[in-house]
Amino acid sequence: MVFDIDMIKGVYAALPGKVEATRKMLGRPLTLAEKILYAHLFAPTATPYERGKSYVEFAPDRVAMQDATAQMALLQFMTCGRDKVAVPSTVHCDHLIQAENGAAKDLAAANNTNKEVYDFLSSISDKYGIGFWKPGAGIIHQVVLENYAFPGGMMIGTDSHTPNAGGLGMIAIGVGGADAVDVMAGLPWELKMPKLIGVKLTGKMSGWTSAKDIILKVAGILTVKGGTGCIVEYFGEGADSFSATGKATICNMGAEIGATCSLFGYDEKMGDYLKLTSRADVAAAADAVKEHLRPDAEVYADPAKYYDQVIEINLDELEPYVNGPFTPDLAWPISKFAQAVKENNWPEKLEVALIGSCTNSSYEDISRSASLAQQAIDKGLGMKSEYTITPGSELVRYTIERDGLLNTFAQVGGVVLANACGPCIGQWARHIDDPNRKNSIITSFNRNFAKRNDGLASTHAFVASPEIVTALAIAGSLTFNPLTDTLKNKNGEDVKLDEPKGFELPVKGFAVEDAGYQAPAADGSNVQVIVSPESQRLQLLAPFAAWEGTDLKGLKLLIKAKGKCTTDHISMAGPWLKFRGHLDNISNNMLIGAVNAFNDKTDTVKNELTGEYGAVPATMRAYKAAGLGAVVVGDENYGEGSSREHAAMEPRHLGVRAILVKSFARIHETNLKKQGMLALTFANKEDYDKVQEDDNIDILGLTSFVPGSQLTVVLNHKDGSKDEFAVNHTYNEQQIQWFKAGGALNVIRAEFAK
Ligand code: SF4
Repeated sequence: MVFDIDMIKGVYAALPGKVEATRKMLGRPLTLAEKILYAHLFAPTATPYERGKSYVEFAPDRVAMQDATAQMALLQFMTCGRDKVAVPSTVHCDHLIQAENGAAKDLAAANNTNKEVYDFLSSISDKYGIGFWKPGAGIIHQVVLENYAFPGGMMIGTDSHTPNAGGLGMIAIGVGGADAVDVMAGLPWELKMPKLIGVKLTGKMSGWTSAKDIILKVAGILTVKGGTGCIVEYFGEGADSFSATGKATICNMGAEIGATCSLFGYDEKMGDYLKLTSRADVAAAADAVKEHLRPDAEVYADPAKYYDQVIEINLDELEPYVNGPFTPDLAWPISKFAQAVKENNWPEKLEVALIGSCTNSSYEDISRSASLAQQAIDKGLGMKSEYTITPGSELVRYTIERDGLLNTFAQVGGVVLANACGPCIGQWARHIDDPNRKNSIITSFNRNFAKRNDGLASTHAFVASPEIVTALAIAGSLTFNPLTDTLKNKNGEDVKLDEPKGFELPVKGFAVEDAGYQAPAADGSNVQVIVSPESQRLQLLAPFAAWEGTDLKGLKLLIKAKGKCTTDHISMAGPWLKFRGHLDNISNNMLIGAVNAFNDKTDTVKNELTGEYGAVPATMRAYKAAGLGAVVVGDENYGEGSSREHAAMEPRHLGVRAILVKSFARIHETNLKKQGMLALTFANKEDYDKVQEDDNIDILGLTSFVPGSQLTVVLNHKDGSKDEFAVNHTYNEQQIQWFKAGGALNVIRAEFAK
């Protein structure tokens, strides 16, 4: 047993009293999110928090970390003065395995290439009481769903798709490593009280439609920004009609609409999943408090009264969707997709189709996809695209192998990749003849920003359910609609694919020989954490310098980024993943994907010291060597995408002093604050246009920096003229302390030293 039933029982024992007290305090019925949030306050409150305004301190039940982000989180935790984590925590080795030749070879190669990182993570987990999931055990969110997620719980994870656990009714939020350090250190974790979006699901899905299509449709409605600062709560009879793993898919992809997390109420489907994943005791404990694990009945009756926004989707009418390219909110119902492909001149030929990942590798997903692969065999169609299968965990992989599903995929040429992120995070040595050739791929993953999967700007990546991905792979074309179209088989006959059929859960139960879990030492005091001083991949951290106590003057403009600037643009993944534990080395990727507004080029900015154009990191290193700070200017939703705090630490490490943008993605804004960086927004968005390439920039008002105040930015232009304007911030008292101390970790260390 790897989960902590006593901890869960403790949460449930306190739940009824906390829910009742909250109901009384708010004086009205409660949504599910409110029940869980108020039950996880770090300290009780006598007054309600205001959604979208109040900063609230929470006490999450768990922490999960994936290997790419765990390195920096644990390097930070090491320096905070504790000898054991304060809450149950786990590390999952999933991001560093490159997909190239299939599971066995790729896993062996990863164990070799990443040995020092795995040794570090294994030893530090052992020392500080952290559960360690070895390479090959599976992808963090799938492993969490199978082992740790529980209805009514609250967790944070150092990965933006942590909300996957909402499929089991848990508030699960993606954060940066610095937040994980807070919770593992036993300190409160702070979040602005989220607003609530209610999604009412009526009807029931059938045929080709699956849970993925719900979130693909929601992404089209809300866009990549529409969920920002919100918890999305799904309810209605439609919500209870489909599997817990389907719910997890929806919650997982809530990250693609910027949602803080997504959530379903506890139901029989969750109970079934808990029981089949060896947690009958959790199901029984949840059953005993089940009325507290769903919204109050009055909320169902009049949702507009309790949610800030309500969306209604009739599952009876829901079509399968394909979203993309380049953004997950470009939503096309399958009936309109072929036309969109033609009108937009997207490459019709489908070169690679990839199913699985943390988002869509449930037994249901795989068995439904396998039913289509079987039809490809039986109907003489074969598979026209390259086809890969990424199981989300060893538990799933072993079970689908036992049940013959992997064999079915093998018969159509499917390649089973390691139980790891692989192509989903750019860890993909794709075999392609010409990397500049426009080409199309489709995945059942969650994210499809340019270059995300294979590092190629020429790749048009689309996202769909595993069933649609498989059907399109059989056709080898993006313009195929399996609901209406026929395909020519090898005998020249026109054949149609039947609707996919599968099993929500394995009839014979799940099975596994070695799930890949390593329990920590009972007493870790003598365990040595392994970091070589010569390492190019791991580097012990030195604290950032405290604020100098004055306004910041004479800062250089490093880059004025134009358009989308995600954390992938700020700190690219793919080949850079290997440096996630080495701040100085990974800083060589800082902002290399951002588009310079002055020349529309990436990684080409003017060095004001030489007048020459050069790479962004090298230019910043030159400023740092000259003792100069700099400012990064950005557009809307700056830092959307992942939770990686490297995107905040790199500019901090290289001497950037402020990020000034039209708007921020939530996690990135918090990460910047944690690292002692100034995260500022234009009070008037048109002031973005005033920023010129050769500006020297002053930031004034820091000596009277208080919550709710504005700061002033002065642009000293090269021709001697000036522009001066107000900028906003969202720092509270605590966050201003972080800024002054040079970062949150400096504050924590000082507190433990007292
Ligand atoms: Fe891994 Fe992709 Fe899931 Fe992130 S979204 S955890 S990269 S599989």
